[in-house]
Amino acid sequence: MQRMEAILSPVARSHGGVSLPHLKHTAELETQVMPPPETVTLAMQQHIGVPCEPLVKAGDAVFVGTKIADSPKRICAPVHSSVSGTVTGFREVLLPSGQSCNAVVIASDGKMTPDPDLHPVTVETEDDLVAAARECGLVGLGGAGFPTHVKLSRAPGVKLDTLVINAAECEPYLTADYRECLEHADDIREGVYLLKQLMGFEKVILGIEDNKPKAFEVLRSIATDPRDVKNEVHLMRLPSSYPQGAEKIIIYSATGRRLPLGRLPADVGCVVMNVTTLSTLARYLRTGMPLVARRLTVDGPGVARPANLLVPLGASCSDVLDFCGGLTEDATELFWGGPMMGLSIADLTAPVLKQNNGIVALTGAYPAPSACIRCGRCAAACPMQLTPAAIEAAMQNPSVEQLQALYTNYCIECGSCSFVCPAKRPLTQTMRLAKSHLRRNPDNA
Ligand code: SF4
Ligand code: SF4
Repeated sequence: MQRMEAILSPVARSHGGVSLPHLKHTAELETQVMPPPETVTLAMQQHIGVPCEPLVKAGDAVFVGTKIADSPKRICAPVHSSVSGTVTGFREVLLPSGQSCNAVVIASDGKMTPDPDLHPVTVETEDDLVAAARECGLVGLGGAGFPTHVKLSRAPGVKLDTLVINAAECEPYLTADYRECLEHADDIREGVYLLKQLMGFEKVILGIEDNKPKAFEVLRSIATDPRDVKNEVHLMRLPSSYPQGAEKIIIYSATGRRLPLGRLPADVGCVVMNVTTLSTLARYLRTGMPLVARRLTVDGPGVARPANLLVPLGASCSDVLDFCGGLTEDATELFWGGPMMGLSIADLTAPVLKQNNGIVALTGAYPAPSACIRCGRCAAACPMQLTPAAIEAAMQNPSVEQLQALYTNYCIECGSCSFVCPAKRPLTQTMRLAKSHLRRNPDNA
């Protein structure tokens, strides 16, 4: 018999945040499976950390799920073929960050034959679970791309008491996680109870915004599962305020703990997992198929036929857009991800990476910026309590001391400041430049 569940409210409320138009047009569009393109281009850098090295050479035959790249370094996630076919060579690809990396190019045979060596994976201990997350090639699928096995690895003596499942998906247009909740509830359920059992979390919090009632009910059924005999799995109703799903913000909302700069959630006793990352791990254990495809929301007024698509990793942006009928004539801007935190797509041949959760095309011209009127709205909206206008002014003649004194590195690049600015100052871009200035400075250890 299911027990009744009290719905939790956030224990702390972050400063700032903005109210964005919901614009979740694809929320009720069931996921379509995109057919394999003629070739896939699998980047060696699909995660935060060290790039992989190829394990294959031109002419090698591969199956869906065959491991094609790895590294002995810890902060890295292996890459697996997303199609069956033949390796044709290697090429440089441009990443959304603006950097480039090597990539393995595979010609598909169109058959999508799974690797015959794959089989379900049994995990009995925490170490088994961490090893499985690595073999899956799993990274944070909400956009961060941090290797999951590193996130799950605790340093000796570190107590991890709280697992936060992040189903907030607060960016406009994106519905990839929402569809995961509706289409793969059982995998989410298995993931929650397996992680809880093997890692010994005292508390699990399923966090979702209050504007997604159907997904809310799915998570409620998971929080009231009879396996939760000690009542340690909870549903938390988060306010629909952007950027509620940012890691630092959801940790603060769920636990009241502040994550210091440069530290991992484990340093404050938490593991935060995106809901699709969690269910992907559960599916990997059930089937043995590593991370070779992911759901993308393709939407925005510049897309002819918006959709939620399951896309083989390494398909190109243009492959995906072609499947959706292409761009409209008045499309002006194209992003990997949503319009707030997404990164511009400069090259339509760029491949889909593990951490890409959408392609959004906008129309219309961004208004030209005018002079700052010192209204203070950017500071009021900043969830990290920064003063973006002051940092912008400091960037006129940047000094490391001044940028550090303004806590520039705390910026999570959420875009809220740009969104509220009546003068349309490109504040988020300036924040990225300011952080880049600090990174380049050798004194900024
Ligand atoms: S982009 Fe940075 S400075 Fe602007 S609101 Fe977000 S955290 Fe604050
Ligand atoms: S919101 Fe724009 S106009 Fe207002 S203080 Fe900030 S930068 Fe200046």
